[in-house]
Amino acid sequence: QGRVEGKVALVTGAAMGLGAATARALAAEGAAVLLTDLDPAVETVALEISAEGGRAAFVLHDVTVEAEWAAAVAAATAHFGGIDILVNNAGVSGGMGELMTQSLEDWRRIMAVNLDGVFLGMRHCGPVMAAGGGGSVINLSSILGKVGLAGAAAYCASKGGVLLLTKAAALEWAPLGIRVNSVHPGFIETPMVANAIAASENGNEMRDGLVAAHPLGRFGVPGEIAGAVVFLASDAASFMTGAEMVVDGGYLAR
Ligand code: NAD
Repeated sequence: QGRVEGKVALVTGAAMGLGAATARALAAEGAAVLLTDLDPAVETVALEISAEGGRAAFVLHDVTVEAEWAAAVAAATAHFGGIDILVNNAGVSGGMGELMTQSLEDWRRIMAVNLDGVFLGMRHCGPVMAAGGGGSVINLSSILGKVGLAGAAAYCASKGGVLLLTKAAALEWAPLGIRVNSVHPGFIETPMVANAIAASENGNEMRDGLVAAHPLGRFGVPGEIAGAVVFLASDAASFMTGAEMVVDGGYLAR
């Protein structure tokens, strides 16, 4: 018996990185998973899960577009009959943007994906989850939703927004049986982090500095975040709502 046996999960940003790892982990624990992403590579991840005996389907989906949320929810309902678990994972780092030069356009794009996307996900999946008797929402924030990082103000603001959006939703939806929690990863080996380091002028130095900020002396791997998400999705976390799960190799401990 898997830890989320018989549940239906919708995971955004599931083409790669943390979203793909989370979709795989939920499927391995018995959930039927609708993977969504605007990157067509999401199809390959869904096919791989199916080939390994999991239940998976996918839709192409931009989390910033409200009409596409209606389509994603309809797909989850059509394929699997409802939604019990929502993982709002899609996000962008936006690269490094100094406050004095960052364009309003860049700022808005980061907010649109990282914060509007989470709002829209809850807004559209909430009614289906409530109708099914409740469920679990997991929102991907970051260590940078709890502390700042110079050069990443927009990202920090968006992830801090996710932290309190999560807490307010947890209070509003507790009577509906929907738990809402946030996950705060440290730096994890994903395309997002690899691309940010590759784009930097002094990538090796940047990488060494970031690794050193984690007392465990390394970046995390996607499975270490997926494990936390599966836990929050499962009945093992039945008394957790409005909580901040930090999975950061000790980054925030000092
Ligand atoms: P990633 O860039 O490796 O993958 C993100 C996925 O989201 C991609 O498949 C991308 O196509 C998709 N995506 C981007 N914009 C989208 C949109 N508008 N609609 C639908 N899909 C979209 O990123 P990751 O490292 O796997 O990060 C996943 C989440 O975890 C993000 O919210 C990120 O901010 C957060 N996070 C990551 C780290 C880290 O170190 N990797 C740390 C803390 C928090």
